[in-house]
Amino acid sequence: MEQLSSGLNLQALVQAQLVAIAPRGSFNEILQGLQKNKGFGLVVEEQGQFRGLITQREVIRALGKGYSPEAITAAQIMLPSDYCLRLSDLDDPLAVLGRFRYLGVDALAVVNESGRVEGLLTRQAFRESLRPVDLLRIKRVAEVMVPDVATIAAEASLQEAAVLMTEQGVTSLVVPEETSRGVLPRGIITEKDIFEALHSQGGVLRGTVGSIMSQPVLTVKPDQSLWQVNHLLKEHHVRRVVVVDDDGQMLGIVTQSNLLAAIDITEAQGVIQVLTRELNKATAELRWQLSRQQAITVAITESEQRYNTLISHLPVAIYRRDRDRLWRFSYVSDQIYHLTGYFPQDLADLRQIIPAADLALAERDIEQAIRQQRAYSTTYRIQHRDGCFRWLSDRGQFDPHSHMLHGVLLDVSDQQRTEERLKTALEREMIVSTIIQDIRQSIRLEEILQRAVTSIQQLLLSDRVLIYRFLPDGSGIIEVEATTLPQYSLLGRVIHDPCFTKETAQRFLEGRTLSISDVSQAQLQDCYRELLLSLQVQANLVVPLLQGQHLWGLLIAHHCRAPRLWQREELFLLQRIAEPLTVALQQAEMYQALEVANANLQQMVYLDSLTDIGNRRCFDELFAKEWRRCQREQQPLSLVMLDIDCFKAYNDHYGHLQGDQVLKQVARILESHLRRAGDLASRFGGEEFALLLPSTDQAGAIHIVEQLQRALAEANITHAKSTVGPQLTASFGIATTLPSPDHAPSMLLHLADECLYEAKALGRDRWVAKEL
Ligand code: GH3
Ligand code: MG
Ligand code: MG
Repeated sequence: MEQLSSGLNLQALVQAQLVAIAPRGSFNEILQGLQKNKGFGLVVEEQGQFRGLITQREVIRALGKGYSPEAITAAQIMLPSDYCLRLSDLDDPLAVLGRFRYLGVDALAVVNESGRVEGLLTRQAFRESLRPVDLLRIKRVAEVMVPDVATIAAEASLQEAAVLMTEQGVTSLVVPEETSRGVLPRGIITEKDIFEALHSQGGVLRGTVGSIMSQPVLTVKPDQSLWQVNHLLKEHHVRRVVVVDDDGQMLGIVTQSNLLAAIDITEAQGVIQVLTRELNKATAELRWQLSRQQAITVAITESEQRYNTLISHLPVAIYRRDRDRLWRFSYVSDQIYHLTGYFPQDLADLRQIIPAADLALAERDIEQAIRQQRAYSTTYRIQHRDGCFRWLSDRGQFDPHSHMLHGVLLDVSDQQRTEERLKTALEREMIVSTIIQDIRQSIRLEEILQRAVTSIQQLLLSDRVLIYRFLPDGSGIIEVEATTLPQYSLLGRVIHDPCFTKETAQRFLEGRTLSISDVSQAQLQDCYRELLLSLQVQANLVVPLLQGQHLWGLLIAHHCRAPRLWQREELFLLQRIAEPLTVALQQAEMYQALEVANANLQQMVYLDSLTDIGNRRCFDELFAKEWRRCQREQQPLSLVMLDIDCFKAYNDHYGHLQGDQVLKQVARILESHLRRAGDLASRFGGEEFALLLPSTDQAGAIHIVEQLQRALAEANITHAKSTVGPQLTASFGIATTLPSPDHAPSMLLHLADECLYEAKALGRDRWVAKEL
């Protein structure tokens, strides 16, 4: 068997010096290892021995199976130790290729005879090193031959032969011979033979197949390589050979186009060029030979059509471009229409549809390859006439003689998209885990919600992500948001959704989600469509946010610039983040309840339960605080002590309950006359009240006290047993100071008490004021 050793050194393709990992390696280490190895794969090693192999696929599958990343170890997900090649295997590329195919992987470890890892061999490196010529060497006749051979009897007329060729769409017919050994090929007749007969007979077809067929028939065996077939075809100037078994029995036929079709087209641009050139040459020759015979023109056209059919069935566009005008086609096959939406005549220059960023990179690739005299291969995006972007693979070779680039363009968008998706899925997974962890660690709800929408917006790159909270009347408010542009902001807006009913809410409660790619096209209730359009929404994703059994709100992503085909993973992402948010909402609810309870408790500690104004503790704390503040700011501080006159007698006469009512009434009066921030009325004890008046001098305090005296008179509370008069009155002691370190606050308190005592002594219903 012919070996590929000529020119193909597999050992040189082995990627050595890659990072390896131990069987206990963690998920993070696996990711880092793969990253460092540029995604080639990651060898699992123990004491220098090969244990297994991890590629990106194993990572994705492990996540796909629902393993949690923390629990994953290298040993758990690795491919077993037979995913490797021995150094000796590298001598036989066919065997290597077979192993890649059999194991269905994109990389294999290469180990030496003592089980030590030498490196990795990737399928891609292997494939890229293959030249079209190598491909011809690898493939066998059996893989590409056509078993149904069109046959014709030797006695048949040339006319009949022409008809049969046309009907069967073949360019040759084999004349079989039945023998005791089976059917053997006896002769072969081709299109060209018929044309020549026609030519020599002056434009009339006469005679039988047997009279002009070629014999003996050129044959090959099924296990011969296509390379050998190619040689044979060239040597004998024919375009087909018959395949026979060891007994000479006819098995099938191999034509030049079979050779072409057999080869993976993206790898075969070189072969295509060769064959195209030969085909062109043959056509030109034929044209020249038969140019004077009108009748034969038809045949040429047919031949061209066949060529065109061949080309148009390939999923590629073939082109020629001038070296100096890199992106201008001097020729491109019609297939370019399927790739770009433009006909060849409308697309003289590819630059009109390649984004600038891609263009620069692609140009660099091509120029570099030309300089290094090797085939170029690059990938770039183009904007299809339908507006969408697609990925084209552009492969070819510079021909210095014609000064032209010969190459093929192939649409690889699907492949590219799959790769991108896998990549983004992995990246997303990591970001989402971080967000979720973040949410679990925060306590403040607003912060959690804001972080969630910001992260989602950055991940989805959608124009607006928001949290919508339902209000008791069925409307809702945009609670938090993250937007790409300020004009998309809806923060704080209250939305009345006329379509939102109890049933809608029920469905959300049952976990329903919404995913609308194009608001103007989707099947929606008109009222909902109008609402969305009025909010500039062209596409949206909606998932519910529940608080226990209650629909708290919605987590929503909007796309405003254009419609957007959401991917399923994007909806999943929203759902995954909604989950911890729901937990956070529940916690927040409990937290709020706790805060209210705490506040109540706090009030109870500082409020007087009878009068609902501050109590003694409240007074003490504020007095100390205001003392310090006034001292700092060099402001006066006044303190008023108030004591109801003859209150014992009131109680005795009207009863304690009535007395309590009076205390409440007095408290209200005090409260309503103290309006400045920092002023405080508190119940000092029994029927005594203390008024704290910061930044108030003696005159100001007297002014307030006189107002209180008038208000008390206006309240007109009858006191039949008072020694002062028919109405309830009070006495006031007013003490004022500019607080300084020389005095203690208690001194001001004593002074106020002293003043009050004097006021009582002087006959009650009056004030006495002093400064400290
Ligand atoms: P004066 O101050 O004018 O000298 O006479 P007074 O009768 O008000 O004297 P004193 O301050 O000695 O009496 C305080 C009375 O206030 C005693 C008690 O009957 C009454 N008192 C104290 N606390 C309360 C209370 O919480 N409710 C009621 N109804 N009465 C109270
Ligand atoms: Mg008293
Ligand atoms: Mg009193």
